[in-house]
Amino acid sequence: MYRILSILTFLSFTIAGFAQKTIAIKCGNLFDATTGRLLSAQVVVVKGSTIQSVTPEADFKEKTDTVIDLSAYTVLPGLIDAHTHVLLQQDVTSQEYADQLLKESIPYRTLRAARSAKISLDNGFTTIRDLETEGAMYADVDIKKAINNNIIAGPRMFVSTRAINTVGHYALSPKEYNWELDLPKGIQEINGADEARRAVREQISHGADWIKLYTDRGYYKAADGSYHSYPNFTKEEIAAIADETINSGKKFAAHAMTRDGIIYAINAGVTSIEHGFGMDDECIQLMAQKQVYWCPTIFICDYMAEGREKEGNPMDRLFMQTFPAMFKKALQAGVPIVYGTDIGGYSWDEPQAKDFEYMVKWGMTAGQAIQAATVTGAKLLGKQGELGVVQPNAFADLIAVQGNPLQNITLLQQVKWVMKNGVVYKSVAGR
Ligand SMILES: [Zn+2]
Repeated sequence: MYRILSILTFLSFTIAGFAQKTIAIKCGNLFDATTGRLLSAQVVVVKGSTIQSVTPEADFKEKTDTVIDLSAYTVLPGLIDAHTHVLLQQDVTSQEYADQLLKESIPYRTLRAARSAKISLDNGFTTIRDLETEGAMYADVDIKKAINNNIIAGPRMFVSTRAINTVGHYALSPKEYNWELDLPKGIQEINGADEARRAVREQISHGADWIKLYTDRGYYKAADGSYHSYPNFTKEEIAAIADETINSGKKFAAHAMTRDGIIYAINAGVTSIEHGFGMDDECIQLMAQKQVYWCPTIFICDYMAEGREKEGNPMDRLFMQTFPAMFKKALQAGVPIVYGTDIGGYSWDEPQAKDFEYMVKWGMTAGQAIQAATVTGAKLLGKQGELGVVQPNAFADLIAVQGNPLQNITLLQQVKWVMKNGVVYKSVAGR
């Protein structure tokens, strides 16, 4: 009898130990990402890693295991940055890029990436689409795995591994070095449709969630004021990449600056255009019509302009002159605009929420800008209802700021509290 009792006691203790605790989060204001508006005095109940309910505080009666009082704060869904590089630590100059590839081992870069991932989480970006490792092979898959296994703290990651470009069209460039050296490359180089297909298969087999390709290079401004570039792939190569990616149930993102890369990528079936700093009216119309996402990465263009101009490349400065008007056009035309920063291209010690300011200055309401980093980001990732919203069954990814971000968008640069998957990673005194 004693034996049976002790087994029963052990069992019930074990079951209680595994039972998911409930947390009630009292929100002073709650951002409703679906409508882009704030709701006042709401209670969000989290159970395990998901949201169980959202109720006006006046109607809330449930008893929960814990209460987190954020009644002095505005709570929002965890933000999504759709363009990051955790394995890159700024490359304003080509020397900064080369130093990382030539002087830092992949293990060292991966340790630095763990720091980048933690910064992203502290910044309130609880989900990132990390768009290539810049020569660090498949280390993004390891970072993602370490986060998912609770070895390190970081955001949910959608990774793209090595990215694809054609031979000779990406750093490090042989013409800048002793040609006898076998230089490391920031991407996987391919030549011809078969190698393109092979690269996609290899990357997916190593854990790529997305395929990233670079569809143009050598951007310039023509005498008539239009922007142009050189396409990197043959039609056969890009068709092979698209075909293999889509047949594997994945999507691809294209780094494309001007119409020569953008239209190429759209015709191949791209899901998102990255940067697109020099897009024209035809690109805008096509993207709106086909609902191709645009990830504009604005702050980095401004950030890079001076340093790159000193190096003899004035393009970012030129793009910045025409960017505001083009952004307004794309917004009015109905191009789905998603929030993405390209952080890593600029220092991880700089703000990750800076793009919001430009988006609002250039015509979005603050609510629309936050939607770009929540509901629209979730849609891009195929995670509607799971990410970017505070509603039952969504992941419990929540952040809090002090004040009203719809009145002051820069508050998103000072995220005070972060929860991911129901776990608090950044807390304000006692919460
Ligand atoms: Zn990038």
